[in-house]
Amino acid sequence: MNATNEAQLILAKFGLADRSNGDMVARSPIDGSVLACIQSDADIDAKLTRNAAAFERWRDVPAPRRGELVRLFGEALRANKDALGRLVTLETGKILSEGLGEVQEMIDICDFAVGLSRQLYGLTIASERPDHHLVERWHPLGPVAVISAFNFPVAVFAWNAALALVCGNSVVWKPSEKTPLTALATAELFKRAAEKFKGAPDGLLELVMGGRGIGERLIADKRVPLVSATGSTRMGREIAPVVAARFGRSLLELGGNAAMIVTKSADLDLATRAATFSAVGTCGQRCTTLRRLIVHKDVQAQLVDRLVRAYGSLRIGNPLAADTLVGPLLDRAAYDSMRAALDAARHEGGTIRTGGERIEPANGDAFYVRPAIVEMPAQSAIVRHETFAPILYVLNYETFDEALRLQNEVDQGLSSCIFSTDLRETERFLSAKGSDCGLANVNTGPSGAEIGGAFGGEKETGGGRESGSDAWKAYMRRQTQTVNWGTSLPLAQGVEFPV
Ligand code: NAD
Repeated sequence: MNATNEAQLILAKFGLADRSNGDMVARSPIDGSVLACIQSDADIDAKLTRNAAAFERWRDVPAPRRGELVRLFGEALRANKDALGRLVTLETGKILSEGLGEVQEMIDICDFAVGLSRQLYGLTIASERPDHHLVERWHPLGPVAVISAFNFPVAVFAWNAALALVCGNSVVWKPSEKTPLTALATAELFKRAAEKFKGAPDGLLELVMGGRGIGERLIADKRVPLVSATGSTRMGREIAPVVAARFGRSLLELGGNAAMIVTKSADLDLATRAATFSAVGTCGQRCTTLRRLIVHKDVQAQLVDRLVRAYGSLRIGNPLAADTLVGPLLDRAAYDSMRAALDAARHEGGTIRTGGERIEPANGDAFYVRPAIVEMPAQSAIVRHETFAPILYVLNYETFDEALRLQNEVDQGLSSCIFSTDLRETERFLSAKGSDCGLANVNTGPSGAEIGGAFGGEKETGGGRESGSDAWKAYMRRQTQTVNWGTSLPLAQGVEFPV
């Protein structure tokens, strides 16, 4: 069965058949075929008005009850994991186990949020005044805009929405224009959960479809106090000033340029396996994809030889096939940027050790490539740039200081890791003088985070944190409350004001 027919069958399962007349064309990277044509939104005003009204009703629902809706959403995802996971694969080209993994991540964050709905803890603070109490409480914030990228078309939505909803907010979601089908299917599952939950206000989740123009309208709207945006650093640079100018909050999850330091004491077998998965998984199209291997001179030849052998055994092809490890790039633009990056790397003195070629498919509109390994003489301009494709640049070092300097000297600050069995090296890497990234791992690769930790990065990655730990606080407003339950009026800092 070709991608179009399979997508049509899955869409019918979600009650979304007959989507062929819209202006947004959804294509499958698997064979370049048109999966469906979706109608974009001409105007989002009515949806925003409905969403803002939904917020005013939803914030009155007790948080543990709000958790019940998220539990039902998680159940709907569980029941439809196979279909939604396949649709993720059809629409993004990531291999099926990653498509299913993406839905599992949605289920996991729903479970996390259900527990969280009973744990939105505030704080009691010792008051300096007699007969006073001082507390900090967290209140719902308002409509939360979620703008998502193509490469995690639904998981990023769930990270944001599950937390935002238990925190008492409504959600307006603008998915990537490149992945509208998985968004429609996910919104349908949410609708089914909301129908089971008695009392979810209409418009609690609004889906707005379209490209950058729709996104620009959404971020400028004063009714939206928080814009959570995942995508390129270019996009974040455009969004941040617009939201700041109206004193809104933005939560930015932008580009990465993950590195792996491999020291002389490293277990090279582990390092090879971790580097291969992190560099070629999702065909190099993850924000946490390993792009820079910073390896000690003494083990460089050995490690690169192992990697070249591992790359040689990668099965590249249809991501729905059980034994495929690397699927296609998203589209021609992604392929062109990979070619341009390899040309630049050569120009900057690099040597391609393996890969970089396109594997010609039967259909010319699909872009399958052999992942590349390029040894570089220095951390030149192309190495510092995030190219969203499977290119692993190899740099070497002599002293550990040099390795840390290379790791930290790029503009992005999302994910990092070290492979070493030397405690002094690993602890230094994790210390304040070590990795400057939001994620720092020891003896495991930079890609594939668990939902329990806060996810996000520093510098041009945008500084946002999503998912686990106390990331929920970004979706609420903090209020400090002082109550005088006595009969006098003492002022703070001992100020006297007798009236
Ligand atoms: P992109 O920046 O092209 O688009 C992302 C989203 O932003 C889309 O929905 C797009 O329509 C919207 N958008 C673009 N410009 C906008 C504007 N000016 N105003 C409002 N909305 C706008 O990114 P992409 O190609 O879909 O995704 C790949 C990028 O996303 C990579 O850089 C990757 O590192 C990054 N990413 C980051 C994370 C993270 O958690 N840090 C996760 C996934 C992807």
